[in-house]
Amino acid sequence: MSYTLRANNISKRFGTEEAIKGVKLDIKKGETVAIIGPSGSGKSTLLRCIGGLEKVTSGNLEIKGICGMVFQNFNLFPHMTCLQNISYAPIRVNKAKRDKVEKRARKLLAMVGLSDKAGAYPAQLSGGQKQRLALARALLLNPQVYVFDEATSNIDSESEEQIMNVIKTLAESKIVILISHRLANTVNSNLIYFLHDKKISESGTHQQLMKKNGEYAKIFTKQKELESINKNINDIKG
Ligand code: ADP
Ligand code: MG
Repeated sequence: MSYTLRANNISKRFGTEEAIKGVKLDIKKGETVAIIGPSGSGKSTLLRCIGGLEKVTSGNLEIKGICGMVFQNFNLFPHMTCLQNISYAPIRVNKAKRDKVEKRARKLLAMVGLSDKAGAYPAQLSGGQKQRLALARALLLNPQVYVFDEATSNIDSESEEQIMNVIKTLAESKIVILISHRLANTVNSNLIYFLHDKKISESGTHQQLMKKNGEYAKIFTKQKELESINKNINDIKG
């Protein structure tokens, strides 16, 4: 079987509120998938179901291997150092050997540009550094599926670039699922799912969706215009 992640008509209800309705996904190892859609369209709920943080109300989800998640709000432990934040789950939950875990944790800290922060606490880090720490923590668990929910929103552009680079390397052998409202981050995905009103309304590559000239194309074109206006304003400001 070639799939690694498959969602068969999954739905999720919170009381009477439907958060996702009949979503189908079929994602193979080595693919990067973007989930795009307006606020409230069900993106986070879908990712939380994939990560096992929510139970689907109907349909089923098949995932081979574990899923690592990186969120917009980091979810770090404030009372633990960077090294402890990363090593906690493998040592406590998976009962891995401490010296082995810490050795790998230091390597991953270096990979995300935080080798000098092993003993620092999250409060001593910038937003971008916190997010790179959250990424290192996900990497240590060596998941087959990575989920990034607006993980590069509200952080400095250098951290964003670093994180996008790590995502690119991961994508070669894993599954990466990316939510980002900056469509520039998602144009190179193998597949883009556009969520509208809790359902997938369009899917395809960037080129296919631009050709289709639907909702995705509209939003992409608008963002491009806004970015170029912002650039002009910044150029004038010097
Ligand atoms: P997005 O991430 O695209 O902004 P969400 O997945 O957060 O969308 O939300 C989809 C819908 O589900 C929204 O209408 C939201 O209010 C609702 N929802 C999400 N989580 C909960 C929850 N825990 N309880 C009740 N409703 C929720
Ligand atoms: Mg969300």
